[in-house]
Amino acid sequence: MSAMMFDCPACGGEAWSTAGEGTSLIHFACRDCGRESAALAYPAWVESGPRPAAYRAIVDVPAQPQQASKLRLRLARAFAKLPGFCLADLERQAVAGLSVWDLGRYYAASDYSDGTQAQAEQAAAQAGATLRFVLEK
Ligand SMILES: [Zn+2]
Repeated sequence: MSAMMFDCPACGGEAWSTAGEGTSLIHFACRDCGRESAALAYPAWVESGPRPAAYRAIVDVPAQPQQASKLRLRLARAFAKLPGFCLADLERQAVAGLSVWDLGRYYAASDYSDGTQAQAEQAAAQAGATLRFVLEK
């Protein structure tokens, strides 16, 4: 089996695909730091065309620690299967006590893709949270 290789977003090391090859969502794990993540892969012909707009999905964190941890659990469950979401990332932000959480990168719908922004909105609604989408430059 030939594995695809990625640059680890955390340490820049070599990350290898673990699942989802041949689909538009590839999971990969870093050999150096062990970080697992997911990436949206586009067909080669799309690379040359305009990319759909990319957004960071931001959610406000309740000031009450108990409510914040409940929200984190609901978000972790609702976002589990979404491309762009990384559970370790959310845990790290929660531990750091941030007042907003960044739930990953999502794409607007375009001519050749339904995008993932709507999926993120749906997942947030399931978790009882409201997302803000911040355009990624
Ligand atoms: Zn790494």
